[in-house]
Amino acid sequence: MHPIEFKKIDDQNVFVKWDDNKEYTLSMKYLRDRCPCASCAGETVLWREYKPVPLEILTPGKYNLKGAEIVGNYALALTWLDGHNTGIYAFDYLRRICGEFAPRLAPDAAKNRG
Ligand SMILES: [Zn+2]
Repeated sequence: MHPIEFKKIDDQNVFVKWDDNKEYTLSMKYLRDRCPCASCAGETVLWREYKPVPLEILTPGKYNLKGAEIVGNYALALTWLDGHNTGIYAFDYLRRICGEFAPRLAPDAAKNRG
């Protein structure tokens, strides 16, 4: 399974289209909060005791995607405006979190919020 399209559609959302023609819209915050790199997700195998301390400080640009690049033939590397670029989203992982993303508001409700 490969993404055939991945693009920003506005300041908060990205659009992903897969080679089976499934399409998803995800918020950048959702993607960033699921960054799979060791410093975000923690190292689960070698360092079981280590868990990153959750930081509540919002870095400017943290939830703003700067770029995306295909790595090898298996993953998408995302670069964020705060400089974070170690998150490698394997396609199967990306597809899974695409499927799990459920916007809280229906598009119509969001439109009416001004
Ligand atoms: Zn990360």
